[in-house]
Amino acid sequence: MTRKIISSPGRIKAAKAPGDPEPASGATAAPPTPSATAPARAPAGARPKPGPARRGPRIPYTKLEIAEIFRRFAVQRPEPQPELEHSNPFTLLVAVVLSAQATDAGVNKATRGLFAAASDAGAMAALGEDAIREHVRTIGLFRNKARNVHALSLALVERHGGEVPSDRASLEALPGVGRKTANVVLNTAFGEETLAVDTHIFRIGNRLKLAPGKSVDEVEQGFLTIIPPQFRRHAHHWLILHGRYVCKARKPECALCVIADLCRADVKTTDVPAELRELGAGLLPASA
Ligand code: SF4
Repeated sequence: MTRKIISSPGRIKAAKAPGDPEPASGATAAPPTPSATAPARAPAGARPKPGPARRGPRIPYTKLEIAEIFRRFAVQRPEPQPELEHSNPFTLLVAVVLSAQATDAGVNKATRGLFAAASDAGAMAALGEDAIREHVRTIGLFRNKARNVHALSLALVERHGGEVPSDRASLEALPGVGRKTANVVLNTAFGEETLAVDTHIFRIGNRLKLAPGKSVDEVEQGFLTIIPPQFRRHAHHWLILHGRYVCKARKPECALCVIADLCRADVKTTDVPAELRELGAGLLPASA
């Protein structure tokens, strides 16, 4: 199996640094996931479109500064890779469905056996819900997830000839597949310029005041509005990895941050950017 790396859209850490804005209503000492705070979503297919015509909230950055931020992310990670193991669009879809409120490592541990038993929709449908449940029982919410994996496999066979569709509406019509999951699949498997707002991207959008918003949809829209076209393809992974390893929830590692001079976060502790260099195969800054 090809090992790939993906950032799980569903992994949420209940942490907030001083000065960080709260997500939408209900955030307490154990904040809900961004998706849980989002207001009613637009219908499937109503995708926010990037482009200068759209107006977002005022942000304290010039276009040049925004471009420089993403240029530096691109230098660090020219080809960012996902962290969930998968070998094709179907196993990617299943891994992402399983990753909600679970760690990537935990999902990978479970999917190695599951994908060895079934790596396409037909085989997964034939495997059956009970067997799927046994493979994923170490993952949170495994009963619901096993049911969804089986149901979406059947749906793929019945509606799409066993293939994962490449359009949002068809993806979001599958059991257990929401906007975030569709965004990850569209971005990673089909190369679309989508942005799946997880806890890290939600935090960065608000903390840095790049794409402030009370809901994941607002943050998604904000980022899609400001990210220069040449950086949209990989922005999703860059932002997640920056949030996971540098601009952490409880204690941002500003000394390791390559955009410290540009950052407008109230919580930042230095204006001196870290050395800008490609991180290579490793995802972490040297001293992280
Ligand atoms: S300077 Fe600190 S707060 Fe700003 S992006 Fe970097 S790590 Fe985050």
